[in-house]
Amino acid sequence: KERNGNEPEFLQAVEEVAETIIPYIDKHEIYSGKSILLRMVEPERTISFRVCWVDDSGAIQVNRGYRIQMNSAIGPYKGGLRFHPTVNMSILKFLAFEQVLKNSLTTLPMGGGKGGSDFDPKGKSDAEIMRFCHAFMSELYRHIGANTDVPAGDIGVGAREVGFLFGMYKKLKNEFTGVLTGKGLSWGGSLIRPEATGYGNVYFAQKMLETKGEVIKGKHVVVSGSGNVAQYAVEKCIQLGAKVLTMSDSSGYIHDPEGIDAGKLAHIMDLKNVKRARINEYLKAYPKAKFIEGKTPWEVKCDMALPCATQNELNEDDAKMLLKNGCICVSEGANMPSTINAIREFQKAKILYAPGKASNAGGVATSGLEMTQNSLRLNWTREEVDIKLKEIMSNIHDSCTKYGKQEDGYIDYVKGANIAGFVKVADAMLAQGIV
Ligand code: NDP
Repeated sequence: KERNGNEPEFLQAVEEVAETIIPYIDKHEIYSGKSILLRMVEPERTISFRVCWVDDSGAIQVNRGYRIQMNSAIGPYKGGLRFHPTVNMSILKFLAFEQVLKNSLTTLPMGGGKGGSDFDPKGKSDAEIMRFCHAFMSELYRHIGANTDVPAGDIGVGAREVGFLFGMYKKLKNEFTGVLTGKGLSWGGSLIRPEATGYGNVYFAQKMLETKGEVIKGKHVVVSGSGNVAQYAVEKCIQLGAKVLTMSDSSGYIHDPEGIDAGKLAHIMDLKNVKRARINEYLKAYPKAKFIEGKTPWEVKCDMALPCATQNELNEDDAKMLLKNGCICVSEGANMPSTINAIREFQKAKILYAPGKASNAGGVATSGLEMTQNSLRLNWTREEVDIKLKEIMSNIHDSCTKYGKQEDGYIDYVKGANIAGFVKVADAMLAQGIV
């Protein structure tokens, strides 16, 4: 706390993990007295750099770029890049720390990292986005590589940005390697990678519901966000017969009481991915829906909630409202969307609650599969990747159950995910000595 006092999101992420890991360390002699958690919360390396680029009016813009190389005990650093004005050291360190445990949970050989910039992509032309991405990579390329550190997308970094970043890396290094994931299909990408985080989140929710003899079919679902994760979580919910009532962006949420079906989702994808419009434009096509400005969708009555936008978007009051309205399952698509007090409410009520590091791990897992395909110089089919994704989500669910099942049968997915993720990384760190 003394060392990271000005990093509230990072402290929050560490506190949530420490609460479950410290008692585990105390009970297992091989970990105690080795300062293992203290070593894990200190990044192996942090890089901060200047990014200068020229906007469409000819003016010079200056942003700050970052890469946090958190832990490489079990594989090359791996984790997304976020472009958003709120990006700072605290947010990236929390994301990198979560990523270490999440990547370990996938069972694939990936360490943890995260990076990005305080650059705001909103309202920028394609040419500006390209110039920014090229400028960003003109420094980042020194620090990454297919066997060193493999970034991917996150908020504000999708297929378009990964393309520009990859183009500049290839030019500077004169090599075609799997240095980024989330690539286009014709140049090293993997089928199902765009869908993987959202699909994986719903597969995880399915596994949780199974433990209660429940299914997704017929459930009323409230989703936040309308970006990559939210879009494919909604798509999978629709495919499995659920009724999705809401989606949102940073301006507010739309509530469609008739349900967002496949046609309506295609319209939202066009609005967000092609036109880059605000979510309230939905009402022009579907006037029976409502737009609630400046609010999050947790006040809408539902059986299941999928927070898929950003950190701390669901607080204690929201959790109480969801519980009062009969919600039985919360599966996080975003990273740390629920505050610590919201999590306590879900756990007190003993509903099914999965933290992002377990339920959204399908994205990075499929990035791992993209890396494998790049190394093999092979492309797997859509079905092959989807089967592997399902298997990985099911295995993560089993690991959470192994370490998180309580005497009364309640599964504490927070405890389960933290301990399962921790054990593998800690064992590797112990084996490699103090480095
Ligand atoms: P996108 O940029 O595609 O979409 C982000 C969505 O969240 C947008 O609808 C955006 O609205 C909304 N949002 C962003 N910031 C805020 C905010 N401060 N308040 C309210 N809404 C906000 O990102 P992704 O879908 O890729 O990422 C969403 C979450 O999922 C993040 O937490 C990310 O870390 C996590 N995640 C993503 C993975 C991936 O594979 N992409 C993998 C694992 C986790 P607006 O357009 O108005 O900004």
